[in-house]
Amino acid sequence: MKVLVMNCGSSSLKYQLINMENEELLAKGIAERIGIEGSFVKHETTGKEKYVIEEPMEDHKAAIKIVLDALVQEEYGAIKSMDEISAIGHRVVHGAEKFVGSVIINEEVKKTLEECSEIAPLHNPPNLMGIYACEEILPGVPMVGVFDTAFHQTMPATSYIYALPYELYEKHGIRRYGFHGTSHKYVALKAAEMLNKPIEELKIVTCHLGNGASVTAVKNGKSVDTSMGFTPLEGLAMGTRCGDIDPAIISFLMGKEKITIDEVNNIMNKKSGVLGISGVSSDFRDIEEAADAGNERAQLALDVFYHKVRKYIGAYAAVMGGLDAVVFTAGLGENSFVARKEICSGLEFLGIKIDDEKNNIRGEETIITTDDSKTKVLLIPTNEELMIARETKELVGNK
Ligand code: ADP
Repeated sequence: MKVLVMNCGSSSLKYQLINMENEELLAKGIAERIGIEGSFVKHETTGKEKYVIEEPMEDHKAAIKIVLDALVQEEYGAIKSMDEISAIGHRVVHGAEKFVGSVIINEEVKKTLEECSEIAPLHNPPNLMGIYACEEILPGVPMVGVFDTAFHQTMPATSYIYALPYELYEKHGIRRYGFHGTSHKYVALKAAEMLNKPIEELKIVTCHLGNGASVTAVKNGKSVDTSMGFTPLEGLAMGTRCGDIDPAIISFLMGKEKITIDEVNNIMNKKSGVLGISGVSSDFRDIEEAADAGNERAQLALDVFYHKVRKYIGAYAAVMGGLDAVVFTAGLGENSFVARKEICSGLEFLGIKIDDEKNNIRGEETIITTDDSKTKVLLIPTNEELMIARETKELVGNK
């Protein structure tokens, strides 16, 4: 069974073709600048040379056609015919309270997804465009929606209710939803496997630290709290997002700077986080480099970031009543030994003892604590695409 995994953004489309008999990656690629001048697809079939197609793509449908052509292309392709694609798994950002797990996409699901777009206007519409385009080009191929929010639907009300008038939750669905769920679930399951313990007996904090970053408390295999909220703006400081701030700052800023709410939103989403503090970059590599060269604001940005992650780990240990493991994943979590070391420093009281030698590694599944460390810290490269393909296979069945 071959599953095509699609992750559609507003102007990009990432895809992977996975053979689910052995979970082997057959091909992957990205279409960029969809609907913008200069669009292209970068395609790579495992074991073959990279292939770049520069062609105008006015919409997602045009992009998907080019991707499918690339997949069956004689020289650079991965399969002989599109008939080999048994199912398509779509990443969908926001499933609100409607979806507690992955679903087969049918008319009713599409209608509900349209409704969910209201609270995720940036993310869900491109996901839906991808769904409609695949349906047209590959009619009859079953499709599954895998939600970033679904894993967090197990959170208790104490974690997801904001201290606002309760009617606002009832009327508008204003509550914590959480994101990166597919990644948190994947690494939590993998951690249990690496620790050789049933996930039902573990208290794990998973730290997905990429450009967007979130921390989740996974107790007995279930998400019980997570740092992102109604939108992916809450929680940690991120590349360009501010994360938790005093909400009173918003109206204060509007008055002092004489700016509109849209401008404040723009500042909070695009100009804040480690970029805002450092003034250097939103990319942690650049900030680490600047800090090493003596840039104090770059160092401050890193220290603020580390502090916030550490704070959430401590808080979630309290939420779960204990801690067996901490997992680091995504761009920074997988690659920066400094970040992992700094975040864990001061957490010895939670039973964490980092082994510097084991921690000096990148992108490989590793336990980075000493053998006698009561609480284990793990580095686990995330694989959201594989998780989506697994859920797709499970729902569609072996075809
Ligand atoms: P997203 O999918 O949210 O865009 P990623 O998971 O790809 O993010 O992570 C991107 C972040 O990871 C960037 O800020 C980047 O600087 C950071 N990163 C990647 N490699 C390294 C590295 N070697 N050292 C430090 N940070 C890294």
